[in-house]
Amino acid sequence: MIREDLWLKVFVHLDEVHNVANVKCPCCEHSGYLDFQYVGDPKTRRGYLQIWCRNCNRGKSFSRLLVPQWAPILDWHGPRETIAQRIPAGISEDNETDHSGCS
Ligand SMILES: [Zn+2]
Repeated sequence: MIREDLWLKVFVHLDEVHNVANVKCPCCEHSGYLDFQYVGDPKTRRGYLQIWCRNCNRGKSFSRLLVPQWAPILDWHGPRETIAQRIPAGISEDNETDHSGCS
């Protein structure tokens, strides 16, 4: 399966069970390292979702979403540091469309 689809599966899983803690990373294939955060406007709940792996620092963002009611939302108009404390810097967006070259 191509990695784009694997990340999409992570997204669907998150939507269903509201966490990604035990999901295998599509990139390094380790379990227990994925984390997620919705960032957006708390009033309209429009925003994006960042998913990342604490092991390999790869991740995937899904933009222009309606943040679901269950999910905590970080205000994107709020202090940058708040977002920076939650989402690590230097996550590289996994844009590979096949299952090779993940490093
Ligand atoms: Zn990983």
